[in-house]
Amino acid sequence: MTTPHCFSVNYQQARQKFITAARIAGAEIDSFENSCSGVGGAGLFTDVASIGQAGAENVLVLISGTHGVEGFAGSGIQSGLLTTGIAEALSANARLVMIHALNPYGFAFLRRANEDNVDLNRNFIDHDKPYPVNREYDKISGLIAPRSMSAPANIWATLRFLWYRLVFGNEKLQRIVTQGQYAHPDGLFFGGHFATWSNQTLDQIATRQLAGAGRVVVIDLHTGLGPYGKGEIILSEPEQNPAYQRAVAWWGEARVKSTESGESVSSHLSGTVKLSFTRMLVGAEVTAVGLEFGTSPPLEVFKALREENWLHQQAGDNHPLAARIKQQFLKMFYPDDDLWKQNVWEQSELVVRQALAGLEDESPKVIDAISPPGS
Ligand SMILES: [Zn+2]
Repeated sequence: MTTPHCFSVNYQQARQKFITAARIAGAEIDSFENSCSGVGGAGLFTDVASIGQAGAENVLVLISGTHGVEGFAGSGIQSGLLTTGIAEALSANARLVMIHALNPYGFAFLRRANEDNVDLNRNFIDHDKPYPVNREYDKISGLIAPRSMSAPANIWATLRFLWYRLVFGNEKLQRIVTQGQYAHPDGLFFGGHFATWSNQTLDQIATRQLAGAGRVVVIDLHTGLGPYGKGEIILSEPEQNPAYQRAVAWWGEARVKSTESGESVSSHLSGTVKLSFTRMLVGAEVTAVGLEFGTSPPLEVFKALREENWLHQQAGDNHPLAARIKQQFLKMFYPDDDLWKQNVWEQSELVVRQALAGLEDESPKVIDAISPPGS
């Protein structure tokens, strides 16, 4: 079934659709207001819709908008599930918790980072300890977050990136740039110097919603990495870890990848949202994954990230190139293509239903392997 009407054109509309669908589905709704104002002064909220038995043993957590702008896909999936009867698919001892727009600022203003220019998926680390050092990023920080986008500056940057690609290879260069950094607050993939509002909010949500849960599945919805329209289920755990083995049993080997082994479209990261659940829910069986959908080739996505960050840090929204840069940026995380949305929706619905079945199953087995489009 396709649900194009569940996808939105801006944060306000996405929030409205989500809340309306959640109310109709009989969900309890809990809203957390961010201190920043949204577009036109409207409020910014992370909303939580929960359905099913309070204090249930089995809980599925579905998160959208960890990376702001990526929330368009995640929100459409969440609203689609609510309007197509996911509530009826829950057994008596299961609960579904949907966290909508974990980073509402980034969602509303079409940014991947939050109001502090922090990448939330690098922010869930121990801020009392020394921050990880990314020396290679330090060396090229001026290329990643340039002060100028003039033609000569861009030609120089392109040549230097080509040289680094020759020296390191694609995979290592991706790792250097994206693994996270804690030394350049105006750069990309900055992990922040404190637990952000979204980080603290997630902690409150987990305390309210997950106390007493024994088996928890977390699916954090993302876009921007991998082949167009294809979903990959990403874990940080190595392949011998029980969480990884459960994931393979529930979703099939073809779709599940570990960042540890280097097979995933994503580099291995610490400080992610999904890992925070494993740390918070000591004693529970936690299977925490990212579900990532591809959009455009990595170099195009990187170019758009770099330009948008320059616009935000250096040029400002009134710059003559602002509209073009923002439009291109949005396309990298939310293609204006109904077929892409349909693919994303169908794969996500299946992944969620398989997760619910997996939560029920004492001896997990493969339910129905996903066949990705074009493969
Ligand atoms: Zn993401």
